[in-house]
Amino acid sequence: MSQPDPDAWRTQVRQWLAGVLEPARTPQSATEAADLAVFHNLSEDEERLLLERCRVYQRARFDAGYQALTLPEDKGGAGLTAAHAAAFAEEESAFEVPPSTELISVTVRLVGMAVSLFGTAEQRDTYAREFLRTDLLACQLFSEPGAGSDLAALRTRARQEGDEWVIDGQKVWTSGAQFADHGLLLARTDPDVVKQAGITAFLVPMDATGVEVRPIRQMSGGASFNEVFLSGVRVPDRLRIGRPGQGWEVATATLAFERTASGGGNRRKGGTFADVLALARSLGRTEDPLVRQRLADLYVRAALRAATVDRVARTSAAGGRPGPEASLTKLMASDLLTRTGQVAAELMGARISADTGEAGTFAWAQHLLGAPGYRLAGGTDQIQRNLIGERVLKLPPEPRVDRMPFSQLPGN
Ligand SMILES: Cc1cc2nc3c(=O)[nH]c(=O)nc-3n(C[C@H](O)[C@H](O)[C@H](O)COP(=O)(O)OP(=O)(O)OC[C@H]3O[C@@H](n4cnc5c(N)ncnc54)[C@H](O)[C@@H]3O)c2cc1C
Repeated sequence: MSQPDPDAWRTQVRQWLAGVLEPARTPQSATEAADLAVFHNLSEDEERLLLERCRVYQRARFDAGYQALTLPEDKGGAGLTAAHAAAFAEEESAFEVPPSTELISVTVRLVGMAVSLFGTAEQRDTYAREFLRTDLLACQLFSEPGAGSDLAALRTRARQEGDEWVIDGQKVWTSGAQFADHGLLLARTDPDVVKQAGITAFLVPMDATGVEVRPIRQMSGGASFNEVFLSGVRVPDRLRIGRPGQGWEVATATLAFERTASGGGNRRKGGTFADVLALARSLGRTEDPLVRQRLADLYVRAALRAATVDRVARTSAAGGRPGPEASLTKLMASDLLTRTGQVAAELMGARISADTGEAGTFAWAQHLLGAPGYRLAGGTDQIQRNLIGERVLKLPPEPRVDRMPFSQLPGN
């Protein structure tokens, strides 16, 4: 389809947002700072309530045609460019968007997109549409105890028995698995080819016999991610996503969506520059030249990140898959989150480590303890730098010593 005029489209988006959301409020004092947690520390009932709140907005967005903006129309998307998606995020940031969770983001921005792109027409109708509308929730069953940065080394196996696949293995760090209906799982289906070539993707029902989810308690208090054990789990062939052996392509596309969602999305994660400024004001520190310097540095970095998100979006081709440049925005987002926590901690000193009851102070501990997680999730800072070096700057690649079939690699 021909692309709508960007300015007219923006106006239309703004009008729609104004009809469903309240305008964003800038915190005037530390007490008014919104939720400062990077990862929620909620009871199961509270988490379910939060998920329901998020779903109301996601459904409205889907029904208005503003979900999956960059997916091609024949894959169930709006067929627009990354620049439209960035414009939507920018317009959205002027409103009070309901707080989101990792699971909503994984369902809509990762699994929904991947199943739309790689699934059959039937899978798109039955699952992708439901994920994009958050009627069904899906987690990402990729990482394993021995396969994080080196994801292609995964050992979870799937063997075909007639019209079914039998899956055995273990996944870890699976965000939201305890609330998910399905999981997009990567499994090794052929150990006798190079490691990337022998992987297949499946959509696993999380209530299938043999799936066991064990929440992991994090240092910030909550348990937003899990270990998932799979013992003889039977999945029908109709839940295979893509061809046998196409799993690595599904994985890399999903991870590129993840970097874009983490780096470019405006889902609130922890404190923002506006929250730090409100904190400095409430502590009476805004006249201190050193504090002003730190605040200015944070402001400039936040502005640079926003400009980079915009630039990457403008240079990305239309067609649904973000390029390696998304690593730049992911890296800048996790760096900004860390620095935001550091400036808040410097402002507060010991007050951040003890709950004195003073509003808007100890809450920053939730930010500080959660921020390191974002330097790992969706590919670590070091891996983003490798991707930028090799695929954006075209520097010589790291030495690869694992070009033989997976079964011949040491330890297999
Ligand atoms: C908050 C959070 C949520 C997550 N959610 C999910 C989820 O929902 N689903 C899922 O599948 N996974 C999830 N993960 C897992 C995440 O993708 C992995 O933690 C990440 O890919 C790193 O893998 P690892 O933890 O095994 O670390 P490792 O790969 O063991 O890395 C250890 C260290 O070595 C460095 N390193 C490794 N290889 C290289 C290299 N080649 N060059 C330079 N440095 C290197 C890393 O940067 C890191 O510092 C989540 C993680 C976090 C923290």
